[in-house]
This record gives sequence, structure tokens and C-alpha cells, in this order.
Amino acid sequence: MSESPEKDRLVLVTGAGGFIGGHLVAALLRDGHVAVRAVDIKPLDQWYQRFSEADNRVLDLRELGPCREAAKGAATIYNLAADMGGMGFIETHKAECMLSVLINTHMLTAARDLGCERFFFASSACVYAADKQTEAAVTALKEADAYPAMPEDGYGWEKLFSERMCRHFLEDYGLTTRVARYHNVYGPWGTWDGGREKAPAAICRKVIEAKLSGRHEIEIWGDGEQTRSFLYIDDCIEGTRVLFASDVAEPLNIGSDQLVSINELVSIVEAIAGVRLKRNYDLEAPKGVRGRNSDNTLVKRKLGWAPSIRLEQGMELTYRWIYDRMLARRNSAAE
Ligand code: NAD
Repeated sequence: MSESPEKDRLVLVTGAGGFIGGHLVAALLRDGHVAVRAVDIKPLDQWYQRFSEADNRVLDLRELGPCREAAKGAATIYNLAADMGGMGFIETHKAECMLSVLINTHMLTAARDLGCERFFFASSACVYAADKQTEAAVTALKEADAYPAMPEDGYGWEKLFSERMCRHFLEDYGLTTRVARYHNVYGPWGTWDGGREKAPAAICRKVIEAKLSGRHEIEIWGDGEQTRSFLYIDDCIEGTRVLFASDVAEPLNIGSDQLVSINELVSIVEAIAGVRLKRNYDLEAPKGVRGRNSDNTLVKRKLGWAPSIRLEQGMELTYRWIYDRMLARRNSAAE
């Protein structure tokens, strides 16, 4: 990686109480030489990770005033705050997802007005055109596949619009912007229940529930033959920082190209748990596109970056973390 643009500067991370934001703050603090301001709308006791060395603030970034407060003095900004969740959430909360445009608009405006030097935006594979994701044996998505635009309704449109806004803040106002298209990031210290969780965490939770209850069945959304790739959080953080420090202004995939079906993902978790479950398929449940994979040709060429953690390894770490949470919750309920 080239010299970090954050060295000896104030770095703002928004969405810091969330999954990726929490890991990013941890990584920045581990490196030292940076002051970190961590901002989220959630009360501090609900943050997945919180560090006393950071300047932790609770602010609603849909408003311009709080965005200015958050950005004041920050040389660089990682904007990760968004109202989002897994397929069960984004298919049923389209307006809510689109309202995250207020966060991105006001954070960009505050960054521009307060002289921030570099701005990162967390976009998503949901920007890709639906007609390129209709087969389970899908051709991996190249960055150019976002256009002609037909993104995921609601969430994907907001991400595509905000990507575009980053581009024009760079072209028109000279604000250096960097954009990652994340593909299904998973790992410990993220959402694993409550309705916003994504497939890897949801499957871990369901397998653990089956194991702990002795009721050896699992409900799977769709027919389980839909395919995805999943990026472990440590790879995500590394890819994010390499991209942020680079001179590449166009959006790049930050994802894994290890394609699996949801049935295969369930088998991986069953093997970790040491159980075999009867599979019940809910064909009416939200399932998203039929197949989605990340083409990493461009990101490898431009940044020399590729993920290094295999799905089996990352799922084992995720499973253990969720297992400990569920066991702790069960034990405290029994007291
Ligand atoms: P997350 O939900 O764990 O974190 C997002 C955080 O933003 C939450 O803690 C939430 O409280 C906060 N937030 C929401 N509204 C806010 C507001 N008005 N003001 C301040 N904070 C607010 O999600 P994550 O998985 O950590 O995702 C981080 C970013 O990456 C998001 O922009 C998301 O859209 C993007 N992304 C994530 C994935 C993934 O697989 N996790 C994939 C593609 C894109």
C-alpha cells in the first residue's frame, strides 16, 4: 500500500457503530498515527464495537448540521452510514433505503464546504443491472455492468445515484472521492438477528438454533440454488484501505469471486457445526437476483488487490462468534 493518506490526520468514520465501520475504526486505531472520530445514529451501547481512543459521537447524519459537526477538522472521511440490511430488509424498506441519499448528499456537502481532502463512499453490488444476474451460473459482474442502469429497486438506485454524486463532486468541486462496490461482506461483530442480517449470519444463526434445540431442520429462502459470493470482513477492510489510498476514481468491486449457491453455503455451515439438517424451502421469501459474483479483473489490475480468506475459513470464524452470542443470550435468559 502507498503511504496512508490518513497519517497524523483526523479521520472520520460514519456508520462506526455498524459492522464494517466498527472494523474500520479498529484497523485505523491499530495502525496508530491517526485520530479517529466515530459517528453513528445508534446509542453508544448498541454499537458493535466501540473504542475509548476514538472520539465517539451519536449524530443523525440525514441532517446537514450534524454532518458538518461530524466532518469538522476531518482530513479524510469514510462514509459508511446507511439505513440498510439483508435481502429481507431491502426488499421491504425501499423508501427507507432511498432516504440514505440524505446522508450521502449532506456528508459530501459538508466534506466539500469544510475542506476535507478525501472522501470514501461504500457502494454495493446492488447497483448492477438486474438483467445481468438472471442465471445461477452467472458471469461475474464487471464494473461496466452497472450501465445501462437497472439496479436493485430502492437500495441499489440510491447507491448508484450516490456513486454518481461522488463522481461529480470530484469533477465539479475537486473533492477527491473513492468508491467501493462491496459484495456481501460477512464476519464477526455484525448483524445476525432482528431482520437486517444477511445470508451468512442468518444461516449460521439458524444452524445454531437447530443444533441447540435438537430440532434438526432449517428454513431456506428460495430454492437454495441462487448463487452469491461472500467477502470476509478482514479482506473488506484491507481492500477498502488500498482503494482509498489509490489514485483510482472510478468505482471498483471489493468482493470475492468464490461463487457458491445458498445450498452450498448451508452445507459449509452444517460441516462447521457437525450437523445435517432437513431443508425446508420457502419459495415466497425474498431472494434477490438469481446469481451474483464479483469480477475482480479490474481491481486486481488497478490496485493489485484480491481477497485472501476462503469462505470456509471466514464462515468458521463467523459461526464461532455468533455461537458465543447465542449461548450467552440463552444462559442469561435461563438465569
Ligand atoms: P450496518 O448496518 O452494520 O452499518 C451501518 C451503520 O449506519 C449502522 O450502525 C447505522 O446505525 C448507521 N446509520 C444509519 N443511519 C444513520 C444516520 N442517519 N446517521 C448516522 N448513522 C446512521 O451496515 P454495514 O454492513 O456495516 O455497511 C456499511 C456500509 O457498506 C453501508 O453503506 C452499506 O450500504 C455498505 N454495504 C455493505 C455491504 C455488506 O455486505 N455489509 C454490502 C454492500 C454495501
